[in-house]
Amino acid sequence: MAKNSSRPVGRHALHIPGPTPLPDRVLRAMDTPIIDHRGPEFARLAKKCLEGIKTIFKTSNPVIIYTATGTGAWEGALVNTLSAGDKVLMVETGQFATLWKKMAEKLGLQIEFITTDWRAGVDAAAVEARLREDKAKEIKAVCFLHNETSTGVLSPVADVRKAIDKAGHPALLLVDTISSLASTDYRHDEWGVDVTVGGAQKGLMLPPGMSFNAVSDKALAANKTSKLPKSFWAWDEMIVINKIGFFPYTPATQMLQGLAVSIEMLHEEGLDNVFARHDRMAEATRRAVKAWGLEIICRDPKFYSPTLTAVLLPDGHDADAFRALALEHFNISYGASFGRFQGKMFRIGHLGDTNDTMLIGALGATEMSLSLAGIPHKKGGVQAAMDYLVSARDSSVKQAAE
Ligand SMILES: *Cc1c(COP(=O)(O)O)cnc(C)c1O
Repeated sequence: MAKNSSRPVGRHALHIPGPTPLPDRVLRAMDTPIIDHRGPEFARLAKKCLEGIKTIFKTSNPVIIYTATGTGAWEGALVNTLSAGDKVLMVETGQFATLWKKMAEKLGLQIEFITTDWRAGVDAAAVEARLREDKAKEIKAVCFLHNETSTGVLSPVADVRKAIDKAGHPALLLVDTISSLASTDYRHDEWGVDVTVGGAQKGLMLPPGMSFNAVSDKALAANKTSKLPKSFWAWDEMIVINKIGFFPYTPATQMLQGLAVSIEMLHEEGLDNVFARHDRMAEATRRAVKAWGLEIICRDPKFYSPTLTAVLLPDGHDADAFRALALEHFNISYGASFGRFQGKMFRIGHLGDTNDTMLIGALGATEMSLSLAGIPHKKGGVQAAMDYLVSARDSSVKQAAE
């Protein structure tokens, strides 16, 4: 038999839940000469991005664009609204929620963590109950992840807003939407979120290195009295200079070139179509996993993530070895495992510039890898996914004809 070639042929199947594959059009848009970041051409580009990004968060307030990964925008959300010693209620949906909590603690906040088994989303009733107990209104903010990327659970943002209101509690609502924005419906203004944290490299189909804070009037008011130290992350100076299309420092010009095009592409497809595509790919993936007889980490369908599916392997099978095998044989990457599921599960990302055909390729590679790795499973997962994609298309074809 011929030795394995060292040259990977064709495109790498990037099925981690972010960074996601970039559309060629975004790559081309970034492959342009650098422009003067204090000149008129830049101001036009920046204004286009600053206006355009509002339509993605569905807000009419300013959106702060940071030259930083999502973790930076986490910090921006906290330091701009809170003061040392403030009590914050967070929910442990998984690894990313835990990281945000650790950051908040390092910043000097007092965190109360509602724990879960990492297999469910946020329970709005539990948040309401805790806030009702807080008669002295000591809790200054409720923070959680719209989509927990380490486990594939989606939490009900609008329900948590209602829970806070029902409890009659003044806490701010801070939501991380890094792995859900531009992939599933999100409404910053309508849902009454005070700070929404976003990132570039997931649904927005951009490279890593840019992130966002969408803000409410209440968050802007809290900013005026918040005492946590801030300089790079400070909103006030940024918002003032953004009005004329500039930044307080040299922003990532090429990322903005890409952002203008990714926003354009999302609207060309239509946001509702983008969301329907993600729902369809997620359902097809879950049908494949169920047909294989494997377990999905998210145990309640009401929390199923539209952007990734985390798959538990049977006891005694190492998920890291499985991912390494799939990479070697089929040039595909899956998301790694963390915390209580370390080595026990892998995550299939199905977000960003991904279509049904790419997904079937990924699920085919997964089914072949399960066989090669000797992991007990039933055949027919890819078939189940294809059957679902055909039926989903049938009904949309019928709808169009009606
Ligand atoms: C990816 C991700 C982050 C971290 O973003 P970085 O860009 O890696 O700093 C935070 N929260 C969620 C939900 C994520 O998916």
